[in-house]
Amino acid sequence: MTVTADAVVIGGGVMGTSILYNLVSRGVQNPVLLERTTLGAGSTGRSSGAIRMHYSTTVNAALAWESLKTYENFDEVIGGDDVGFVRTGYMVFVPGNALDGLKHNIGLQQDVGIDTQIVSREDARELAPAFQQYDDEAFAWEPRSGHADPSGVGLAYATRARELGATVLLETPATSVEIDNGRVVAVITDGERYATNTAVVATGPWSKTFLNGIGIDLPLEATRHEVFLLKRNLEELPFHPGGADMGNMTYFRPEGADLTLVGNGNREENADPNNYSQRPSMDYLEDVWLRLSKRLPGIAGAEFFTGYAGLYTSTPDLHPVIDKVDGIEGLYICTGFSGHGFKLAPAVGTVMAELMLEGSAKTVDITPLRMNRFERGETNTTSYDFKVIA
Ligand SMILES: Cc1cc2nc3c(=O)[nH]c(=O)nc-3n(C[C@H](O)[C@H](O)[C@H](O)COP(=O)(O)OP(=O)(O)OC[C@H]3O[C@@H](n4cnc5c(N)ncnc54)[C@H](O)[C@@H]3O)c2cc1C
Repeated sequence: MTVTADAVVIGGGVMGTSILYNLVSRGVQNPVLLERTTLGAGSTGRSSGAIRMHYSTTVNAALAWESLKTYENFDEVIGGDDVGFVRTGYMVFVPGNALDGLKHNIGLQQDVGIDTQIVSREDARELAPAFQQYDDEAFAWEPRSGHADPSGVGLAYATRARELGATVLLETPATSVEIDNGRVVAVITDGERYATNTAVVATGPWSKTFLNGIGIDLPLEATRHEVFLLKRNLEELPFHPGGADMGNMTYFRPEGADLTLVGNGNREENADPNNYSQRPSMDYLEDVWLRLSKRLPGIAGAEFFTGYAGLYTSTPDLHPVIDKVDGIEGLYICTGFSGHGFKLAPAVGTVMAELMLEGSAKTVDITPLRMNRFERGETNTTSYDFKVIA
């Protein structure tokens, strides 16, 4: 059977749902989102939810900054459910030999308009007394950063989109995109053919395989990333802000009243999205916990609460692909967000809708994210990338 849709979004993670909302709220009449299983079933449902601005490229910093404005006022800007934004502040720690890089990045972020600055040792101590300081290191502080609930954000976007007329179909994997004479004519599932001129592939870790199926080869890798939650002894460590510690290679944030979430990027391994272990590894927990306690000594007396693994989808320069596909009119790609897609999602939905409806993104210049940059050797790798990984 054939159903007609003005646009089809493939994938119900935070990207697909944000795009869907942005399309329908800009007047696209009957967009359809197809989700393989359930909303947030991929990376989104396992995301740490950290929202910070520290990036070494303008495009990522600008997408994060635009997104923060939405996260801070989600129920007013988008409407619907509370998505649990908690402002904690965010501290970046770098070894003294990386001070030039920190200065470069903070200058770039301030040019974007981001509220961030390098702070003195004394100010850092006053802002966050829980953090241990070491000789020869530097500190930056983002007062407005924090975290929110990734599954809640996806659900809120999908709910608002439905209210505005979009259709969200669960347990409905797209099997292919039908292309005729160099343009999209339909998206195919097992049971239906969705006739459309416009399709967006936002399939997270499944993107490489899905795109291969329609003849597109992108350098995408799904990698496994572990996260742990520790239950703090509140007498020893009542609170701490979020942060990224480049020396000890950890990122962390408070969760609820007494938990601390910690992750790290030094043990990523390639994974099959349909078959990978979602369990935490106890030896890695020990390693990460030890490194976290160098920055947060009070965490040594915490208890293990839980842990799990999810998947990053990464490109060689750890920047996403947000683009239209040259040579296939009506086909768009939005994937490869590594460990930072959640915090970028509101602005990504905006720029994707602008690209699709107006021909180019207006809110943020996304040309650095074009899909052919890899073959052209024009990647976004900078020498100041501290690899803050979430
Ligand atoms: C452990 C972990 C911690 C993270 N921490 C942070 C963080 O603190 N801050 C941050 O900003 N980012 C973080 N990230 C990254 C962030 O979560 C991701 O970048 C983001 O969720 C990607 O969203 P997505 O919509 O592109 O992909 P996904 O959420 O994976 O969504 C893709 C969806 O597509 C569906 N799908 C796949 N194939 C098909 C098909 N053929 N048809 C229909 N549907 C299909 C899948 O079922 C899935 O629901 C983290 C990620 C992980 C794994």
